[in-house]
Amino acid sequence: MFVSKNLDVNEKGNLTIGGIDTTELAKEYGTPLYVMDEDLIRSNARSFKDSIDRFYNGNGLVCYASKAFACKEMYRVIASEGLGVDVVSGGELYTAISAGTDPEKICMHGNNKTYDELKMAIEYGVGRIVADNIYEMNALNALCAETGKKANILLRIKPGVDAHTHNFIRTGQIDSKFGFALETGEAFEAVKFALECDNLNFVGLHCHIGSQILDTQGFEAAAEVMMTFIKKLRDELDANVRDLNLGGGFGIKYTEADDPLPYEAFMEAVSIVVHKFCQENDIPLPFILIEPGRSIAAPAGITLYTVGGKKIIPDIRTYVSVDGGMCDNPRYILYQSEYDAVVANKAALPKNTTVTIAGKCCESGDLIGENMPLQECEPGDIIAVCATGAYNYSMSSNYNRLLKPAVVFVKNGKSRIAVRRETLEDIVRNDV
Ligand SMILES: *Cc1c(COP(=O)(O)O)cnc(C)c1O
Repeated sequence: MFVSKNLDVNEKGNLTIGGIDTTELAKEYGTPLYVMDEDLIRSNARSFKDSIDRFYNGNGLVCYASKAFACKEMYRVIASEGLGVDVVSGGELYTAISAGTDPEKICMHGNNKTYDELKMAIEYGVGRIVADNIYEMNALNALCAETGKKANILLRIKPGVDAHTHNFIRTGQIDSKFGFALETGEAFEAVKFALECDNLNFVGLHCHIGSQILDTQGFEAAAEVMMTFIKKLRDELDANVRDLNLGGGFGIKYTEADDPLPYEAFMEAVSIVVHKFCQENDIPLPFILIEPGRSIAAPAGITLYTVGGKKIIPDIRTYVSVDGGMCDNPRYILYQSEYDAVVANKAALPKNTTVTIAGKCCESGDLIGENMPLQECEPGDIIAVCATGAYNYSMSSNYNRLLKPAVVFVKNGKSRIAVRRETLEDIVRNDV
């Protein structure tokens, strides 16, 4: 009935998340409100961790890609499940460390890490830095020389596999701002360079082929390409690749039209490719890292809004306006992403209308979605938009000086604030 398995309807006909009545949450905390179901975050994290344990004999690490959804409480939950994290900025790194994340289990990404960010990573003792370009390797090498530390680096490789939602293309894909290209020889030269840097410890390779990928072929192709490169490095440079980081991108169910595979299926398919290659080429099994972001956070979250005005434009469409919009969920205006929505206080009723849910920002494109099936609704009703746990809060802004919503975690029939709602004072805090 709902796209995420943690959603249900109670005896009052109200939508529940993790067993809690969403209309009560809206009453208690106000709207717009992000709600995250801790148990589903944990079970998603566990399914990846169990897969690594099962398909690679525990020889690997799941690093949650925290750009999907980051706040201290999320880093705590992730750490308590034994996962590591990916960070891509000083801000994410600082938040992770503030929440007590083990720096050894942090993987630092980014195509243009600043000097200060690299310095922070070295000072904190981040376990893996994924180098994106030669300039960065030089900066890191110099920084390490100054501080007398050695950094473990992986190189980001463009595997030439470009995965779009329903299929993948094996292309040049040289045209990406991320990483080193394989087919031009750039990646090979970059490894040579890394091996020559006295203060860098070359430990492995990384790739990430896309996001919201719903089938396994792209991942399998990328694994094959990466393993082939590992063999080349062994044969031609006598280089040992300790770590192979295969990225994230596992798709989730946003609407009934999406039919993602269980996470284990991705993991198993790829592990078959990796094991087979290792056996056939007498290569030791690398330590495998994966970086799921969306697949851990998105299904666990919903956003609650209060309905304001309704605009019925005969023969054209009906706009239902809510008290948030592109400032808390910019995914529609960015990518025309589709979502499933429910009137939380009428969740047992059939969706007998089709509406466009509009935000309150001063942009015509500020929509949550168009042509969305929904229950008949009135001002004051609560709309829940489903599967918003990833790339919503983390991409939110203060456009129009709207206040960022609170984030509430639910677990065991209880709710608690993880991020407080912004106040008007927050809005002017840095203004001089
Ligand atoms: C965004 C990103 C991820 C996570 O992608 P999801 O689609 O959220 O799983 C993992 N690794 C890297 C390098 C990324 O940029």
